[in-house]
Amino acid sequence: MKDFDFVIVGGGCAGLSLAYELEINYKLKNKTLAIIEPRNEYKKDKTWSFWKTYSHNFDDCVKKNWKHFSINIPQKTKHLECDSYPYQTIDSGLFYEKINKKLKENNNIYFYKNDENINLENSLVFNSVPNLNSQNNGLWQHFCGVEIETKKNFFDEEIINLMDFDCEQRESVHFFYTLPYSKKTALIETTWLSEMKDNSQMDYDAQLKEYIENNLNLKDYKITYKEEGAIPLFYPINQKIRNRINIGTAGGMTRLSTGYTFLNIQEQSKFIRENIESIDKLKTFKIKRKYQLLDKIFLKVLKNNPSKMPFIFFKMFNNKSDKVIKFLSNKSNFLEDFSVILKMPKWIFIKALF
Ligand SMILES: Cc1cc2nc3c(=O)[nH]c(=O)nc-3n(C[C@H](O)[C@H](O)[C@H](O)COP(=O)(O)OP(=O)(O)OC[C@H]3O[C@@H](n4cnc5c(N)ncnc54)[C@H](O)[C@@H]3O)c2cc1C
Repeated sequence: MKDFDFVIVGGGCAGLSLAYELEINYKLKNKTLAIIEPRNEYKKDKTWSFWKTYSHNFDDCVKKNWKHFSINIPQKTKHLECDSYPYQTIDSGLFYEKINKKLKENNNIYFYKNDENINLENSLVFNSVPNLNSQNNGLWQHFCGVEIETKKNFFDEEIINLMDFDCEQRESVHFFYTLPYSKKTALIETTWLSEMKDNSQMDYDAQLKEYIENNLNLKDYKITYKEEGAIPLFYPINQKIRNRINIGTAGGMTRLSTGYTFLNIQEQSKFIRENIESIDKLKTFKIKRKYQLLDKIFLKVLKNNPSKMPFIFFKMFNNKSDKVIKFLSNKSNFLEDFSVILKMPKWIFIKALF
């Protein structure tokens, strides 16, 4: 059995972000690190998007920035700006490549497929494999996206469509999301917020085809990439273990009302790196309590009133977009929180408190 100073379980977004943050800040100079990751090869498997409200190490992996976005409900469209916090998309393929290249330069970093030969007892373990209780009745954000290419110019590459609710809701919450990378290429996703108990919601290919061909009215295109996923909108079980710190999704880094996780992971990595000498003695890095509480109420409203959600999301953006973006990215102050909350239909939210 081998001993290491640090072990990272799971070399995905959080595991690699942390390893990179430690490495570029010289925290692994005289320390050993083992990264346990079962996958055989790294290739693009996700696109991480977010409003850039926090600086990160991966600007060179950004596929595109946008300063405009829109939201649709039937018969209504809102156009909004995000000059101060551009919406960014990171290509996971570039992210994995950049980090792995850097980490391989350090002989103190070892890569394993499993923990068979590693002494986990004597190391400080950062775990990114979530314990998702299958009995949980929680909500999920589940989705499937395709990148498509058209022959003729079709998309307005300056503006993303964050949520298009003008589609079948099937007694749930459903929207389409379009990120135009250029006039001829875009990522289009069908997204559901539900308990994932209704299998009919998973006919993603048919939904995407219907949306692209009938809603967007685009017939001549080809699919060049596909991604599928499900983000838990509940916190994984976080068992306290002496020498173990959960990170990423496993460490509660998902903002439950939105599914956004990437930037929270970057903030958590920075916090761990800054405090690495005493990290096992400090309070764990968490998304602020006020957001945890507000998201709990929001998700209760969503569960009880799915048909009202398109209107509620639409109404939320009656505010100045910067305020809402900061609120959704856990960077708002009290006045901004208050102003976003004031736009919400009060009675439904008050009922959800009880
Ligand atoms: C398709 C997709 C798109 C997403 N898009 C966005 C987005 O646009 N914006 C955003 O903010 N968030 C997004 N998310 C949410 C979140 O940012 C990602 O899920 C992110 O990858 C979470 O990082 P993580 O390290 O916690 O988990 P992962 O990146 O999933 O890493 C976990 C790693 O653990 C490995 N592993 C599994 N089992 C074991 C085991 N037994 N032992 C060791 N290792 C193991 C896995 O192979 C994986 O590499 C998306 C999620 C998905 C699934």
